[in-house]
Amino acid sequence: MSFIGSSALSSLLVFAFIGIFFVAIGFFVVIPIIIGVALKGSLKKVAAIPTFDEYSRANPHLVNNGRVSCVKCNGSSIFLQRVATMPTSIISHHVCRTCGTALYRSTN
Ligand SMILES: [Zn+2]
Repeated sequence: MSFIGSSALSSLLVFAFIGIFFVAIGFFVVIPIIIGVALKGSLKKVAAIPTFDEYSRANPHLVNNGRVSCVKCNGSSIFLQRVATMPTSIISHHVCRTCGTALYRSTN
């Protein structure tokens, strides 16, 4: 009787071990891949927008004393749109309120 009991216990332990094994695989392989793909996608989107330096160098006439104008509609009302949150920083796009064009990005 006790033999059957211990064999049931050991097969339970094997199942528990297999369960933990797959959870560990899920944790250390699948989740980083999902995060990596998501991060790569958002970084691609982020990098498509120039930095403030690039924007001001490409459009010096649109940047005057800290006031920035839109390259498309010349509007000067710009809002911040948070696009990616990194472990140490937040990346935002500066978007024209008038025409919705993302003008440049910043990190803070
Ligand atoms: Zn605009």
